Amino acid sequence: MKLSEITTVKQLLDDACRELKDNNVPEAELNAWYLLVKAYEDAADKDIDKAWFYTHSDEKVPEEVSAHLKSFVAHRTKGTPLEYITHETEFMGLSFYVDFRVLIPRQDTECLVEEAMKQCKGKTVLDMCTGSGCIAISLEKLAECASVTASDISSEALAVAKINAKNNNSNIEFIQSDLWKNITKKYDIITCNPPYIKRDVIPTLMREVKDFEPVLALDGGGSGLDKYELILSEIKEHLNAGAMAFFEIGYDQGATVGDLFKKAGFTDVKVTKDLAGNDRVVSGTFL
Ligand code: GLN
Repeated sequence: MKLSEITTVKQLLDDACRELKDNNVPEAELNAWYLLVKAYEDAADKDIDKAWFYTHSDEKVPEEVSAHLKSFVAHRTKGTPLEYITHETEFMGLSFYVDFRVLIPRQDTECLVEEAMKQCKGKTVLDMCTGSGCIAISLEKLAECASVTASDISSEALAVAKINAKNNNSNIEFIQSDLWKNITKKYDIITCNPPYIKRDVIPTLMREVKDFEPVLALDGGGSGLDKYELILSEIKEHLNAGAMAFFEIGYDQGATVGDLFKKAGFTDVKVTKDLAGNDRVVSGTFL
């Protein structure tokens, strides 16, 4: 009897886990589990959970499920991020579709949403460099905004953001725009998680990031500050009186981006730390 004919659910999960561990994939157990869930979903149209697993772990696995899981594990061991295989991630308690066209939403970015959402009630919001749309959609769902507009230079990213708006039943106006180029209105709140990694740091990032995520969403130029400079030099024209801006930053950019905020005419410039204790958000008010 061929081994594949007698593979049980538990054996398959253990094999996947061992393969991931042998290839130094971090959090191998968790990765193996999510890939098994995805394999059942895609190959057997079946939603499995831990309760199902514990009551079915000695059952034989359908051949197609096993083939799907092997292919997923092969991609994961070569560095493809888990989320680009499962096409799903959670952000602010909401579910987002992701693929290689967008940066995978980071938990650190929830800090920006949490700061901005305190101010959004009844306000018009623009989220620039929206990517997957995670910031715009979270604010629209959770913060009682008057309206939410989201822009990005990448029409591919906007296609993903539109999928996410639809899946989350979120009403967002999308504008394809190279920064301010196609933005004509003024707003009460502007949020932005621009590309901010220094160009020469990109090759040192984890292979999941540097080899798979869109470099357009990471590359902040030689200083890492290019996009902040470009956005903040024109932001005035797009702010209503009393408007506020919330920008995500890298851990070492609080002072420099804070100064750029002041130069752009913001007062009450504040740097907020993320849960890991790193500077993560610069905010300010435009009087
Ligand atoms: N925080 C992201 C990272 O760690 C970068 C996000 C960005 O450049 N906006 O890769």
